[in-house]
Amino acid sequence: MIRWPQESRTLESLPLLTLYLSERCNSRCVTCDYWRTGTKDMSLASVRRLLPSLERLGTQVALLSGGEPLLNPEWQQIAAALRDARLKLWLLTSGLSLAKHAREVARLFDRVTVSLDGTDAATYQAIRGLDAFDKVCEGIRAAAAAGAPVTLRVTLQRANFRQLPEFVRLARHLGAQGVSFLAVDVANPHAFGRKDAIGSDLALRTEDLSPFAALLDALERDCAREFESGFIAESPRRLRHIHRYFSAVSGQGDYPLVRCNAPAFSAVLDAGGRVHPCFFIQGPPQAVAREDLALTLNDLPSLALRERIRSNGAPECRTCVCSIWHTRGPTEVMPPLSREPGHV
Ligand code: SF4
Ligand code: SF4
Repeated sequence: MIRWPQESRTLESLPLLTLYLSERCNSRCVTCDYWRTGTKDMSLASVRRLLPSLERLGTQVALLSGGEPLLNPEWQQIAAALRDARLKLWLLTSGLSLAKHAREVARLFDRVTVSLDGTDAATYQAIRGLDAFDKVCEGIRAAAAAGAPVTLRVTLQRANFRQLPEFVRLARHLGAQGVSFLAVDVANPHAFGRKDAIGSDLALRTEDLSPFAALLDALERDCAREFESGFIAESPRRLRHIHRYFSAVSGQGDYPLVRCNAPAFSAVLDAGGRVHPCFFIQGPPQAVAREDLALTLNDLPSLALRERIRSNGAPECRTCVCSIWHTRGPTEVMPPLSREPGHV
């Protein structure tokens, strides 16, 4: 069930805006079609036009994503313009060019999240399609050394779930300030720019569920300090949602209950200028960002779509791997880092 505050029907404020700076990507993930089909980049001019309306909407955090945002030739100018508008900046990157840009990234961003789906070169290549594990690790180290608060994001799937504890050790080893986990999305055909349904061989199978449960038990036992400090972003209970999700994918029960109000406090602006209620649900075709973003967010098709999501009408929500529920206001939209950054 999706529950939102009743007052969220129109958006008077937008604490978090995700900007896809580019549809293009230098990674080759098996789960994604952006790198095959993406062509567009967001322009600096289009971001500048939005700034007054972001101020009116009280936007506090801009999450720069894509595709790979660092492929946008204007990424530094866009980040600087958003910073000058007093937004906090959060970068979500493949990390492939992070070593090259580490100092600028550290200067401009308040948070850097790097996708890292393997703890060794072979696993990384099997999932991300490139022999680039060492390069990404080098980028994480360089950004951390330059002072960027780096966290790792791991998409758990059949090819890497047995490395669960090793991801926590690797995050420490690379100087990251935390690690978070989510399940590979195999149920939503439209996420990651996909044109076709994704192969189900990425998800855990029935025979993987017991070993995965044992790994989660061991992680809870052996990494109590990392859970307590927030170094592992999810609680043990939240990680068990991932187990329930894979159980459901393999036909062993229902999908875990989704509780999400992401479209009540955030929106996604893609590189072509369209506005979406979240990463997984396409916005209406008419929802193209106008200079006053509030007009787009609150036009009739967008209102109707959010109301449909709010009243539990969006099929994407039932199988979502990335639901978010915020209750403590705008300051929560960028999750806190570990309370003991860098402790080993
Ligand atoms: S999942 Fe992300 S990093 Fe991988 S190809 Fe797609 S956009 Fe690039
Ligand atoms: S698809 Fe996921 S992120 Fe989007 S509103 Fe539904 S639960 Fe939330």
